[in-house]
Amino acid sequence: MPRWTNWAREQSCSPSAIERPASLDELREVVARTAAAGKRVRASASGHSFTDIALTDDIMVRLDRLRAPLGFDAETGRFKVEAGIVLGELNRLLDEHGVAFANLGDIDRQTIAGSVSTGTHGTGERFQNVSAQIVGFELVTADGSVVEIDESEPELLRAARVGLGALGIIYSVTIATVPAFTLHRVDNPKPLDETLSRLDELNAANDHFEFYVFPYTDVALCRESKRTSEPPAPRHPALVYAQEVMLENWGGQILALAGRHFPSRVPRISRLAASGVGRSTKIDRSYKVFASERRIRFTEMEYAVPREHAREAFERVLRVAERPELAVGYPIEVRFVAADDSYLSPSYERDTCYIAVHQDRKMEWEPYFRAVEDVLRELGARPHWGKRHFRTAEELRELYPRWDDFQAARRRLDPGGVFTNAYTDRVLGPVEPG
Ligand SMILES: Cc1cc2nc3c(=O)[nH]c(=O)nc-3n(C[C@H](O)[C@H](O)[C@H](O)COP(=O)(O)OP(=O)(O)OC[C@H]3O[C@@H](n4cnc5c(N)ncnc54)[C@H](O)[C@@H]3O)c2cc1C
Repeated sequence: MPRWTNWAREQSCSPSAIERPASLDELREVVARTAAAGKRVRASASGHSFTDIALTDDIMVRLDRLRAPLGFDAETGRFKVEAGIVLGELNRLLDEHGVAFANLGDIDRQTIAGSVSTGTHGTGERFQNVSAQIVGFELVTADGSVVEIDESEPELLRAARVGLGALGIIYSVTIATVPAFTLHRVDNPKPLDETLSRLDELNAANDHFEFYVFPYTDVALCRESKRTSEPPAPRHPALVYAQEVMLENWGGQILALAGRHFPSRVPRISRLAASGVGRSTKIDRSYKVFASERRIRFTEMEYAVPREHAREAFERVLRVAERPELAVGYPIEVRFVAADDSYLSPSYERDTCYIAVHQDRKMEWEPYFRAVEDVLRELGARPHWGKRHFRTAEELRELYPRWDDFQAARRRLDPGGVFTNAYTDRVLGPVEPG
């Protein structure tokens, strides 16, 4: 039986078959055949989710042969593309047409379908997540038919944007792009206290602001990016490799190993690591600035906290991370995202501060993540669907005011529960009868 494993190498399954359709018709045939046989079908993409969201023992569908552009309207900036395309490839295609995503996350290895399905986001308090930039879907549903979803049916679009793979297989997406732009990024360590008291100011002064903090340190490693009219000034690839790949990844690896083998030394090594980070700048096309290389594999949890609780939430998470028995050698990552209106978006109708915690995969991550979750639960935070969390449908439905509307869309598009798996059973519950 074929085996599938995610990027972090922690989630794996043995589907009875992995299908790789090469056309829309082949995709429709696979889905219809699977449903008719009474089996379930699940799409998996780049496997960059840390949860079991993409797993199945039945039929897994991969869209890695469905990556072609399907049309560009220069007047509206709308770009239609097959949904199996990986963001890095898609960004280059968009750039060739003089357009770009308004905002993106911090890597470009995910597919566009996978990114929107979990509510993947970047940072920037005036910018929404990736799914909010999608204005149309073609979705293959259980009987093999193609449902077109666009702004003519806004309620369905709001359900489909963050769909957890539970509504059908996304064959194509239409992206509302913006004109291509250049970003000027400055990485600059700042005193933590000062950063926390200036969150509003730093967010207002930048298009994309985020910061990282190693537990046991009083430094916020701030990353500030602004749109600029300066020409891109790409650095020599060797310098990029030395600064971004070696320093960020292997420096992180040393800390992770220290946590694993010498937990009592983590505070000292963290302080050393944070003090060694200097100021650096980067001016390049937006998509080259948004994305970094992630070579070390870790596990992660991320929560969407109401923006007004950002400081309190961060300080409480830091206190958890500094519990000596947890030996946390990874930074806490803080980002900001504008509210949107997708029913299951963690930023649904509220400006959001995202707080992410990481841990070495080979260490005990669960006590740390559970303790952080307990703290953030009290602040009404919503989990990232693609990152580890321990919440179930019973609790989650209270966090999403339009939960029932999502379930109604699910009932309409997948009444037989063909696109379910253990994860959707846990976080969404069964398809609810009408
Ligand atoms: C190193 C790293 C960095 C990350 N950075 C960020 C970040 O900056 N911001 C952020 O928000 N998240 C981030 N993530 C999380 C990641 O963006 C999400 O988990 C994303 O969903 C992964 O996309 P994928 O293509 O790997 O999809 P997968 O993880 O393979 O699948 C995710 C979901 O999408 C569904 N799906 C995939 N294709 C289809 C399809 N064609 N039709 C229907 N459903 C489909 C799957 O069924 C599954 O439910 C990061 C993860 C890693 C490992």
